[in-house]
Amino acid sequence: MRNEGVGSWAARRARMAPDRVALIHEGRSHTYGEVAARANALAHRLAGLGVGHGDRVAYLGPNHPAFLDALFATGLLGAVFVPLNTRLAAPELDYILDDCGARVLLWSPACEPTVTRLRAAARPVRLAGESTTDSAPVDVRVADSETCMIMYTSGTTGRPKGAMLTHANVSWNCVNLLIDVDLTSDEVTLVSAPMFHVAALNQTVLPTFLKGGACVLTGGFDPEATLDLIATHRVTCLFGVPAMFLAIARSPRFGTADLGSVRSMLCGGAPVPEPLIAAYQRRGLTFLQGYGMTECSPGALFLRAPESVRKAGSAGTPVFFGDVRVVTPGGEDAAPGETGEILVQGPSVMAGYWRLPAETRAALGEDGWLRTGDLAVTDADGFVYVRGRAKDLIISGGENIYPAEVEAALLDHPAVAECAVIGVPDERWGEVGRAFVVPAQGVAVEAAELLAFLDGRIARYKIPKSVVFVGALPRTGSGKVVKARLRAPVSDRREA
Ligand code: ATP
Ligand code: MG
Repeated sequence: MRNEGVGSWAARRARMAPDRVALIHEGRSHTYGEVAARANALAHRLAGLGVGHGDRVAYLGPNHPAFLDALFATGLLGAVFVPLNTRLAAPELDYILDDCGARVLLWSPACEPTVTRLRAAARPVRLAGESTTDSAPVDVRVADSETCMIMYTSGTTGRPKGAMLTHANVSWNCVNLLIDVDLTSDEVTLVSAPMFHVAALNQTVLPTFLKGGACVLTGGFDPEATLDLIATHRVTCLFGVPAMFLAIARSPRFGTADLGSVRSMLCGGAPVPEPLIAAYQRRGLTFLQGYGMTECSPGALFLRAPESVRKAGSAGTPVFFGDVRVVTPGGEDAAPGETGEILVQGPSVMAGYWRLPAETRAALGEDGWLRTGDLAVTDADGFVYVRGRAKDLIISGGENIYPAEVEAALLDHPAVAECAVIGVPDERWGEVGRAFVVPAQGVAVEAAELLAFLDGRIARYKIPKSVVFVGALPRTGSGKVVKARLRAPVSDRREA
């Protein structure tokens, strides 16, 4: 095989163990041999549509075996895979499709209503099961330095940016993950977080694939269904963001559900609040936490099992092939306990942002250290504690307030199902905190009670000055709270 890239992985796995189960979806198993054959056939079909080296192939669809067919088929041709967020509206998808200049848009029948509204230039190709009649192996030379995928960032802080991840970036990220997590060929990994986000795909599905384990794919996340799937498929590895683990913990069945098969729980994307860590500990489960971002493919920091309790609240130390610095605004290494910005360097850091040279220069600088825009402190042992985004920091009367800390304290109150804290302008203090709270079902609570609850738990200056009760928080497709939408004036906000 002349293909050094990710596109060859299905064929390589099929060569080793064609009959092993690679994917389970809606009760049906798909072997590595089947995935490889479908990917090869789809590569022929794409080539017939004129797709070649370097062309962008977008994919719109929920978690489904066809997602991986499309990823591997694209990679077999040396083309660039661009997974799209199914929760975006048609104009947002048009923006990304035209921004990346997609030649072809592969779409799943589940997305038909959206696809009919698209105006972008990409040629739409409906996917409905590949015929595998065209079986001549596609054998294109692909170097690992070529771009494997353009992953758009979550768009939490602005327009999504296309991070160009090379085959080497993705491979090294898998190596880093496999050094830290003992995935085996008997792994059964449940993937209900959307694969169009970097973490579910690169931190979970692809490492499981490299080991020859099986992934159970679900089209969406539901806490009750998750508990059922864990028991039915004897799931060994779970991946999610804190909001998903919180929803599972809030299920009335959480205390008694059969979780005996679970060996690893990977959580990233946002800080895991300590009450959540404690809730899973009561079920004998510890989180493996990571910190990362699309630009890092995504792993940068990892909190390994032995330290997951002793260093609870920390995102850990750098991944094996990766370096992290926490620096002051002057560019010096921050002393232990001193807050600074996280910088990351290593073989999984992106080649740059697609067609955004100024943003790429700002992010990667002259020195190649990625400026993350996230704030953190390190302790004396070098463990990094992520405080949050510099953009979310609230400065009140000269004191720094990290919303994540206030949110964790609020979540300790049984009447709080979800919450988010932002800064709002204040004449006296410059900025003060405002909490948005989704009340737990059936529990009545007053703002004054919540604020009194915080008194004594966190310093007075950190206590929000107001509480707004809402039916839901605005979230991105990966479940992150879009604080910019909470900052918009109330009249511009649509609340559920
Ligand atoms: P955009 O860059 O478009 O605004 P985004 O930064 O949310 O969106 P992602 O790449 O999906 O897009 O998310 C990476 C960010 O998620 C990190 O920069 C950091 O702010 C946050 N994050 C990830 N892991 C953690 C963690 N363990 N603790 C705290 N924050 C985290
Ligand atoms: Mg970002």
